[in-house]
Amino acid sequence: MDARQKTELFQIAGGRVRFHVPMSRYTTFRVGGDAEALCQPADMECLCRALAFLTREGIPYLAVGRGSNLLVRDGGIRGVVILLSGELARAEWKPGGRVLAGAGLSLADLLTGCKQMGLSGLEFLAGIPGTVGGAAAMNAGAFGSETGAWIEEMRAVDPRGHVHAYDRSQLRFSYRRLDMETGSVIAQAGFRLTSDAPERVAERIGKYLKRRKALQPIAEASAGSVFKNPPHDYAGRLIEQAGLKGTRVGGAMISRRHANFIVNTGGATAADILTLMEAAKEAVMQTAGIALELEVRVVGDPAGTDPA
Ligand SMILES: Cc1cc2nc3c(=O)[nH]c(=O)nc-3n(C[C@H](O)[C@H](O)[C@H](O)COP(=O)(O)OP(=O)(O)OC[C@H]3O[C@@H](n4cnc5c(N)ncnc54)[C@H](O)[C@@H]3O)c2cc1C
Repeated sequence: MDARQKTELFQIAGGRVRFHVPMSRYTTFRVGGDAEALCQPADMECLCRALAFLTREGIPYLAVGRGSNLLVRDGGIRGVVILLSGELARAEWKPGGRVLAGAGLSLADLLTGCKQMGLSGLEFLAGIPGTVGGAAAMNAGAFGSETGAWIEEMRAVDPRGHVHAYDRSQLRFSYRRLDMETGSVIAQAGFRLTSDAPERVAERIGKYLKRRKALQPIAEASAGSVFKNPPHDYAGRLIEQAGLKGTRVGGAMISRRHANFIVNTGGATAADILTLMEAAKEAVMQTAGIALELEVRVVGDPAGTDPA
């Protein structure tokens, strides 16, 4: 980005832009080089104007929630990271078990609201450290349930800055995926939930959290499951069977608790993590003949590339 583009983006975003921001602070893996810019639109109009401007100028951008499913390479991100804030990170609670949630809202805050309002359905998301936008884009799921099943409407902004409203029938969710126009940013998701006693909702959230703690290294820096589960099997079981639990490259390690998690034990680089991912993929291909597919999204440039 040149100086004019930086000034214009700064004005469009009402000053909510920073330059050369380390992505290690915005991802749960705690690795990754700098984003050229990080922009935090606080309302729909600002998001629309920012996307239209970036598209017009040919500047790449990437929507990021909590970066809990992202591996940013060590050379950082050329262009602009869009992090939704303000009105786009709040929930409106409506009658009839409906909630319209800003895509930047954390799942933890959404669940706190569900508990208080006595609304059931999303308890399975407890302990997933993402946002509503990230959970919708990834169709995040656990314990046999998926986010998409609870979404009845969605608003997204296309790369030209136009808002589109989608109802359920127009949303194509599949395993860890939502089909959307490339460059569209989810702004809000509307959920329809069912009424239940707040204490029962709280109890179920507690139960899921407990199960998660028993199964996953949730206190360590990771991006959750690295690979998707292949049909009728588990990536973790296959990696464990290949004998890779505890394997280290630099500061990265295949978790001893759950083999489909790679953890940053301190000082890992994205390159360390990528090397482990490749090793796991190769070993599973050799031992089981199965091609694992990444669930974690790898973005950015390798180290040594000069951000513009
Ligand atoms: C300890 C741990 C446990 C986890 N457990 C689970 C689990 O049980 N099940 C599961 O499914 N996942 C799990 N995850 C992975 C991750 O938390 C989820 O995929 C989560 O939904 C990602 O949300 P996020 O906001 O962090 O998205 P990010 O990681 O920031 O982004 C993920 C993808 O979504 C896109 N995206 C984000 N926001 C938007 C938006 N507003 N509009 C358009 N695209 C957007 C990004 O561009 C990127 O491609 C876990 C991760 C950790 C660290």
